[in-house]
Amino acid sequence: MSLTRKILLIILVTLVLVYILARLIAPQLIDKQYNTLVHAAPYQVSNEAQQLYDSLEFVADLHSDVLLWDRDILKLNNYGHEDIPRMLEANLALQAFTIVNKVPSGLNFKRNSASSDQLTLPFILQGRPISSWFDLTERVLDQSQNLHQFSQKSGGKFTVITSKMSLKSYLAKRKTNKQLTAGFLGIEGAQALQGSLENIDIVYKAGVRMIGLTHFFDNELGGSAHGVAQQGLTSFGRKAVKAMEKKNILIDLSHASPQMVDDVLDIAQNPVIVSHTGVKGTCNNVRNLSDNHLKRIADNGGLVGIAMFKQTVCGTEPRDIAKAIIYTRNLVGVEHVALGSDFDGAVKSIIEVRGLPTIVEALLAQGMPEQEIRQVMGDNVRNFLLTNLPN
Ligand SMILES: [Zn+2]
Repeated sequence: MSLTRKILLIILVTLVLVYILARLIAPQLIDKQYNTLVHAAPYQVSNEAQQLYDSLEFVADLHSDVLLWDRDILKLNNYGHEDIPRMLEANLALQAFTIVNKVPSGLNFKRNSASSDQLTLPFILQGRPISSWFDLTERVLDQSQNLHQFSQKSGGKFTVITSKMSLKSYLAKRKTNKQLTAGFLGIEGAQALQGSLENIDIVYKAGVRMIGLTHFFDNELGGSAHGVAQQGLTSFGRKAVKAMEKKNILIDLSHASPQMVDDVLDIAQNPVIVSHTGVKGTCNNVRNLSDNHLKRIADNGGLVGIAMFKQTVCGTEPRDIAKAIIYTRNLVGVEHVALGSDFDGAVKSIIEVRGLPTIVEALLAQGMPEQEIRQVMGDNVRNFLLTNLPN
């Protein structure tokens, strides 16, 4: 073997070893670094709050990004915000799993262009299929498939809900067994459609039942609250909204530009969701909903999930989450409010899933009646899905 060949071989072997090492270590390090907590478990609440929490029939949350990470959610993990064992421990009946599919570099709340994409390297290091390294629709399909696989391997403990019928049969089973949990699939950012209406059918077949129109940058459908132009619905966006409604895919207006929210509400035939947001009334920033938008969403029959991190509620305590919930209830009525944590959404969450009783405690302390707490903690989501999912 010539010297050049030997050197090339050594370089090649080194590169392979570096990849194997990075593949083993990096994904978990990144996950731990991005999904942190203000208050870690165990959580202490009053007897009254715990009893009420334990008696809740249906606890639901409208936003979790956990599928983005290389995490085995069938296992109890000692980091991040959520996995199936913790969902079961927390009496969580339903989680929306919202699929992140493109993240621009230099991410910020004010202005992001669509030109960069930070997800290719993590997807390579996570050992995802090559087809998903550069293709946004494939990223959705891979994460959807993972959720279905978790369900298959869960021994019946975890169900993926895709219709009114599957929700009803899950509810019937859960009546006698609270050691069951479920999820439904959403997408965070319809750039995942890559400008093609046919991809709506493809993601629907993969089980997706909710689509957030924009994420951190403007896309083919219209403007993001954190984009460059922050425009309203484009003509493709109008067609996409109509096509989604026809299939009873829920439209999620989180991260949409104000003009986009208005344009969608002008044409929406079905009630919309805002899966994870704050409200300007308690935390005034570009990410959060104005009073006017809250009223329009309520008029449309929509549902608003209150998120659980500092940038959405302007505080780091469960009482700050409760404040946003109560503000929204006071403005538009309790039936329009729900939880939308943003667990494992690369945020420093105020609590993880096992901390949900602290929200009940904070709502009680702020004078919310028990029946309304039941609605906010999950009954509203259950009723909304029983009405609005495909048959
Ligand atoms: Zn988000």
